[in-house]
Amino acid sequence: MACARCKDLCIRYAVRHPHELRKAIQIGAENIADGTLGEVVPDSPCVSVSFIELAKGAAWDDYIEYHFRCLHCDEIFWLHAETYHGSGGYWEPKDSKSIRENITN
Ligand SMILES: [Zn+2]
Repeated sequence: MACARCKDLCIRYAVRHPHELRKAIQIGAENIADGTLGEVVPDSPCVSVSFIELAKGAAWDDYIEYHFRCLHCDEIFWLHAETYHGSGGYWEPKDSKSIRENITN
C-alpha cells in the first residue's frame, strides 16, 4: 500500500490531450527530483526517449510507457499513453487497489 509520501500520486489520472500528458510528465519529474519516486527502466524499454529527456521537453513517442517506484514503500506507478491516435492513457498505480481517486477532465 501507498505511504504518506506517495499517496497523492495514487490517482488514476486520465491523459487524453497533450497538455494532460505534459502535466503527468511534470508531476513524475517533480517527484523524482524531490526523492519520492525513482524511475524503473525495463530491460527492454518500448520507448526511445528516456523519461529524463522527456521531462526536459523532448518529443514523445507514438506510444509511451514509463514506470516509477516509490522509494519509501515500493508502490509502483506507471504512465502509459497512446499518443499517435490520441486515444490516450493514464498515470496510475500499477496496483488498482491503490487508486484513491479517478481524475478525468
Ligand atoms: Zn510510497
